[in-house]
Amino acid sequence: MCRIAFLSEHANPLAARGGADAGGQNVYISELCQQLAQRGYQVDVFTRRDTPDGPEIINWLPGIRVISVQAGPTIVCPKDSIWPFMHEFMLGILAFLTREQRQYDLIHSNFWMSGWVAVELKRRLTLPVVHIFHAMGKTKQRNQGTLDSSPAERLEIEQYVINGVDRIIAQCPEEQRELIEDYDTPAHKVAVIPSAVNINVFSPVDCQQARHTIGFDSDDFIVVYVGRLLPRKDVRNVVRGVAHLVELVRRDTRHTYPGIKFLIVGGETDIPSPLHTPEIAVLQELAADLHIDDVLHFIGKRQQEMLRYYYSAGNVVVTTPWYEPFGLTPLEGMACGRPVIGSAVGGITYTIADGITGFHVPAKDPAALARKLFQLFLQPSLGIQMGHAARQRVEQLFSWHITAQRTGELYNEVLSETQISSNFTINEYNQKKEF
Ligand code: UDP
Repeated sequence: MCRIAFLSEHANPLAARGGADAGGQNVYISELCQQLAQRGYQVDVFTRRDTPDGPEIINWLPGIRVISVQAGPTIVCPKDSIWPFMHEFMLGILAFLTREQRQYDLIHSNFWMSGWVAVELKRRLTLPVVHIFHAMGKTKQRNQGTLDSSPAERLEIEQYVINGVDRIIAQCPEEQRELIEDYDTPAHKVAVIPSAVNINVFSPVDCQQARHTIGFDSDDFIVVYVGRLLPRKDVRNVVRGVAHLVELVRRDTRHTYPGIKFLIVGGETDIPSPLHTPEIAVLQELAADLHIDDVLHFIGKRQQEMLRYYYSAGNVVVTTPWYEPFGLTPLEGMACGRPVIGSAVGGITYTIADGITGFHVPAKDPAALARKLFQLFLQPSLGIQMGHAARQRVEQLFSWHITAQRTGELYNEVLSETQISSNFTINEYNQKKEF
């Protein structure tokens, strides 16, 4: 039996998804831990306590516990503000290990901050560490410029993490390239293991049935976006693209066409609120300026189990972020048997097969997006064909089963190199008293 400590300072696998700091990383931890537990691993997920109530240890599922560690205020804080609490987070994990007499074989750390905690724990406990960044600071800085609210130390700490851990998981070849070229990471330290999609939760539903379920009975051409509502996701670009599409359709007076709708799923609350999700106000204003305010429909945040109906209600799923380390939502749309148009950045170039399961378009280019939307608008059979191909691609390449299998193989590789770890106990650590 192999015991894994997952470290994830801000992304709790039990948190509701769709808000500003709860997205793909939460899904990754939740799905991967479940797959690992089914394979007999014992997994503890350490996360920062962000509520004063509730137990320290939640026995979530057989083989998986979620442990809340007090570090900083016990309230929800933006992830970019919690770096100062990471030393306390690390000491809290050590205190837990001592109290529980708990031993692990390996640490799997997530995001740069937990990466730092993992390297510090490795120094003290001689445990091997497999790390996944989920997003790289240099890419974020390059793309977000002054909007990047990451702490100043981020890049330096990322380098420290790269030097200190045993292996780094890159979610796609583009991330592997960034690690090697932008961060001088030795190639042998990087393993490409793509993230995935739960193909049971995300499965195709008949389009009319899906529309009926979510209260959108219609024959309109429906464009769907699912995801966090952040400037870098550039839903504004999709609004502009849809406005172009509306214009292209309006100009073509030879035929009578169906109407167009754009459904936007995500945000801080279940009922869409510009107050709680400022991006909604920006998008509403933009739509009004472009005279398509009646085309946009804000849905609010939805649980994963409901999302298949939203994806399946669409003729096409669209996501055009400025950059995307991996991007789970394109895969989810594909798993629901829908064509997906995504910007040609990061993981999206890897997940969507251009011209086969959807289209790549340049980021920040609404006219290019509109041309592809118009193509699918005019050729419904192409969309259906791409949707079938998309589901097939996901089944073949992107199931969590495959991700867990390859992650387990990576653990074995690292463990066989560092036999010492499993013989080292917390008692030995206490005798050394290094902290
Ligand atoms: N999500 C959700 N409910 C919502 C909006 C988004 O569950 O209302 C989920 C979505 O299904 C996906 C994740 O949030 O699994 C977003 O992951 P992605 O990798 O696309 O982007 P990230 O948020 O990590 O930048």
